[in-house]
Amino acid sequence: MELQTFRHPSFAGTVMFLVRNHELKWKNHNRFSLNTKLLGDGHFCKHSISGRKCFSKNIRSSVSCSYSTEKNDTLPSVKQLSDARVIYAVAPALGHTKESHPESSARVPAIVTALEEMELTSKFRGSEILELQNFKLASIDDIASVHAKAYVSGLEKAMDRASKQGLIVIDGSGPTYATATTFHESLVAAGAGLALVDSVVAASNNRLDPPMGFALIRPPGHHAIPKGPMGFCVFSNVAIAARHVQRLHGLKRVFIIDFDVHHGNGTNDAFLDDPDIFFLSTHQDGSYPGTGKIDEIGHGAGEGATLNLPLPGGSGDTAMRTVFDEVIVPCAQRFKPDIFLVSAGYDGHVLDPLASLQFTTGTYYMLASNIKQLAKDLCGGRCVFFLEGGYNLDSLSYSVADSFRAFLGEPSLAPKFDDPAILYEEPLTRLKQAIQTVKHIHSL
Ligand SMILES: [Zn+2]
Repeated sequence: MELQTFRHPSFAGTVMFLVRNHELKWKNHNRFSLNTKLLGDGHFCKHSISGRKCFSKNIRSSVSCSYSTEKNDTLPSVKQLSDARVIYAVAPALGHTKESHPESSARVPAIVTALEEMELTSKFRGSEILELQNFKLASIDDIASVHAKAYVSGLEKAMDRASKQGLIVIDGSGPTYATATTFHESLVAAGAGLALVDSVVAASNNRLDPPMGFALIRPPGHHAIPKGPMGFCVFSNVAIAARHVQRLHGLKRVFIIDFDVHHGNGTNDAFLDDPDIFFLSTHQDGSYPGTGKIDEIGHGAGEGATLNLPLPGGSGDTAMRTVFDEVIVPCAQRFKPDIFLVSAGYDGHVLDPLASLQFTTGTYYMLASNIKQLAKDLCGGRCVFFLEGGYNLDSLSYSVADSFRAFLGEPSLAPKFDDPAILYEEPLTRLKQAIQTVKHIHSL
């Protein structure tokens, strides 16, 4: 195991970042160059924005770069949708990576490896787990439903510079890097989310318990603001999906839950004055980017449709269970959504290097299980998770895998992964004060 020191300019202090052996093996295996489009195993990815297909069907047996730039005739069949209990899409963005950076190309492959190890793929489960193949890229219009067109075209143009330099910084307000493939791979990530939403909505038209969706994608999205990238995030994947379900499916009322350890300021800003999209974020008080105070509730017509609950550092499983029961459930019940979209960040885990909450694998299982039940109770089970943060590859991958088990209604395997001995007492008095305050502000 190699130990690297990573200094995040916007997070206080220096944190130690553990690089697992298998991450290094993965890098060596694929030998992905930042300046070429060689995707490993000798396949060249010939796609481009102008619309050629991706031929690199299998980067490795477990991680595919499988999407289409052509018309969307690639949704699963009715039979596949009726059998599936979990549907997921993989967009690993192997070219978008930076040496020693926590938001690295090792993240999604680590999750896929854990899904295989825990026998949570179709190879082991048959038709009840479905990996979405051949999904489309998001279109420029999809991205522009949330982001300024000038930003989108500016980023595309910056790819030339990234090609020459290998790596560039693409914003001044947060540490977001870009490589020559960033623009394209960000469209792939957003497209994966849209295809999952389409699939889950299609399934919900035929059955009362559609599959839960999970977009295993990067770069993440929830910090990206309408005018630009921010905090490792390029396009606001969840916000783009929210506009998509409104426009394409006529699902007007969208409830977004963001349990990443950091405030989802980009999603927050995209819908500040929108009464039909409820944004609820829990995050560690005082963490990056410093927004998401408890009195930030939206404005204009959207006043009250934004709920920010900063959690005291050290909050853990008991805190989040209390928040779910006392804040998230009554809030969602009152809003009556048509669909849930979830910014699923796994950096609140006690082992994560970028923050100091004390969530465990069991906490993420609880969240996945409870959100699934809430979606079933309130909106026909329509719900899609989107990967956001999570930088310890072990806690990230096992927590996502246990979330899959929650979606399947199977018992948690958290006791195999969690070590109660490393936990310390949660600040429950301060948490209760925060909950009382947020309930008062939102009349819950
Ligand atoms: Zn985060």
